Amino acid sequence: MNKKTLAIHAGYDKDKHGTMAVPIYQTTAYDFGSAETAANRFALAELGPIYTRLNNPTTDILEARITALEEGDGAVAVASGQAASFYSVANLARSGENILVAEKIYGGSITLLTHTIKQFGIEARVFDSDNADDLESLIDDKTKAIYFETLSNPQIAIPNIEKIVQIAKKYNIVTIADNTVATPILLNPLKLGVDVVVHSASKYISGNGTAIGGLIVERKDLSAFLKDNPRYPQFNEPDESYHGLIYASLPFPIYTLRIRLAFIRDIGATISPFNSWLLIQGLETLSLRIKEHSLSALKIAKFLKSHPKVKSVSYPGLEGDKGYEKAQKYLKDGLSSGLLSFDVGSFEKAKQILNSTKIFSVVVNIGDSKSIITHSASTTHQQVSKEDLDKSFVTEGLVRLSIGLEDADDLIADLKQALDKEQI
Ligand SMILES: *Cc1c(COP(=O)(O)O)cnc(C)c1O
Repeated sequence: MNKKTLAIHAGYDKDKHGTMAVPIYQTTAYDFGSAETAANRFALAELGPIYTRLNNPTTDILEARITALEEGDGAVAVASGQAASFYSVANLARSGENILVAEKIYGGSITLLTHTIKQFGIEARVFDSDNADDLESLIDDKTKAIYFETLSNPQIAIPNIEKIVQIAKKYNIVTIADNTVATPILLNPLKLGVDVVVHSASKYISGNGTAIGGLIVERKDLSAFLKDNPRYPQFNEPDESYHGLIYASLPFPIYTLRIRLAFIRDIGATISPFNSWLLIQGLETLSLRIKEHSLSALKIAKFLKSHPKVKSVSYPGLEGDKGYEKAQKYLKDGLSSGLLSFDVGSFEKAKQILNSTKIFSVVVNIGDSKSIITHSASTTHQQVSKEDLDKSFVTEGLVRLSIGLEDADDLIADLKQALDKEQI
């Protein structure tokens, strides 16, 4: 089935529920009916709801829907994109081991994956994701994951996905792609051989900035890849915290199952059923919105490129952009989503522009129907050190736009009046 159809129907049995809209199961717990059913659910002999920290019927539908859209085998929804990134890595790497992290990623992912995770004894090694030429040299026996963004926030860079996947396969290492900005409508990393996709569903999937949520999706046959893979004993040895359960012996998608049964059970960054429901509403219109975001962003990128006060524009859909070839290769119809950035040379000038726009709001979010303007270096990347900023190419004069669903000509007029002010 086509994605447009899947986004509206996948995972929901209307006949069973009898309602056109997916119901919200706003409940903490479930009536098992009998002691036997309760015991069977805990023993995984029978799958069904146990307690909303672990699973919920509304969230189940969100998970089934994203699984269908990403063409995966299973998914788990969590409280936020940050929780998704953390669990996706913690499921693979343990104390004393390392992960390889792309240099161009979201600020929160930089702090999480290269700093906070150090407290758990996991070392991050940063690689050049544009080319991945240094990737192989960073791998050793303790390397457990390769993490990158398909369209990076905020640089909007596209990594050399094929090369990353090829090297990962050679060493039997799991790859994780954050597909938040591209969305499953424009790119399916799992079809390119990536093992795990994570999303901040708070962005384009929500679509109007009303819910925080994260998603983790695993590819088909990832269970077989993990089974007997010496890099991942946690899937092949008895889990003492689950009465000796060996994940690799189960007939389920074990990567996401272990996140649910071990990490969400114990750490508990669970999505609320109401947020799952909001994200289901968002998914229904994602294909229409992402096309509109992309077309408007291209129009605006062309305008900015022609403006004398703009030093450079970064948008992979723009001909001549360094990401253009990759955008044509990887993204559906070359549509490049709604994020773009431009450089005006200094923080002072960037600030003036932020303070002069009228339709754009000064907000740190992306993927909203409302257009957003951000100065990354002083906000989303503020806690990132100068050295890491340089490495992630977030310059002082970089202004990031998240193009909303307003009329593109109105947005251009707004940017034009801001740029044409004398002091800039
Ligand atoms: C926002 C974002 C995150 C974090 O997601 P939250 O839902 O805000 O926790 C992760 N990755 C990318 C690319 C993002 O834009």
